[in-house]
Amino acid sequence: MYDYNQLKNDIELLSSSYDLTDIFSIGDSVKGRKLYTVKFGTGKKEVYYNGAHHGLEHITSKLLMKFIFDLCYSYNKNIKLRGCNLKDLYEKSSIYITPMVNPDGVEMSKRLKDWQANARGVDLNHNYDAMWKRGKIEIARQGISKPGPTKYSGPYPFSEPETKAVANFTVKHNFDYVVAFHSQGEVIYWKYGPTIPDESVILANAMSKVSGYALDETSGTASYSGYKDWFIKTYNKPGFTVEVGKGTNPISENQLPKIYNDILELLLLVGV
Ligand SMILES: [Zn+2]
Repeated sequence: MYDYNQLKNDIELLSSSYDLTDIFSIGDSVKGRKLYTVKFGTGKKEVYYNGAHHGLEHITSKLLMKFIFDLCYSYNKNIKLRGCNLKDLYEKSSIYITPMVNPDGVEMSKRLKDWQANARGVDLNHNYDAMWKRGKIEIARQGISKPGPTKYSGPYPFSEPETKAVANFTVKHNFDYVVAFHSQGEVIYWKYGPTIPDESVILANAMSKVSGYALDETSGTASYSGYKDWFIKTYNKPGFTVEVGKGTNPISENQLPKIYNDILELLLLVGV
């Protein structure tokens, strides 16, 4: 599986192989692991992709790192990636990527086979300040009211260093849109409550078309306090959750070639 050490190795390899990216950390996890973040491009149009809010979903970290390596390789070789001219993209856009938002959870999922939360048992994608209280009530109805492997939303919004780091980083930028990658289901969630930013409809349809993933609407506890919810609520700009692959988490890395093939054009939409 793609764990924190592999991420660290890939980050070092990226840094020693190419001069094209800025590499930094946006903060530390509960256990002091770095939330590595990579920037590709120097343009004004800023987007943000992140992966592995959930421990069992480390395939999204591998997916995003593969994307970064492909961007750099193709840029240097001056070849197009899926028809996308990367020199243009590099000048016009800045793509920021945090491949592993929850490194502690990824590590814990090696021993605890259902572990999605962070090291304090808080589900990070239920810890953002977007209808957090309502989410908490719904989750309590399902019998979840204390730290555990999944869905516990924490004592208050942004109680966790990982969500605080992602939110602070987001606030400091001017992202046109954001995409949080999860597994699994081959669907795209694009709405938050009654709020539908104008550009969301166009972008959601474009993402669905290029990936073959269906547009879907969250229901129940999945409708609250996630990253995309908070982003849409705060900025009235498009925010997405993309659920890659199919099956039971953690999904097999054998699926990665298909997932990458499905998702690559969606990742490159920023350059269109
Ligand atoms: Zn998830």
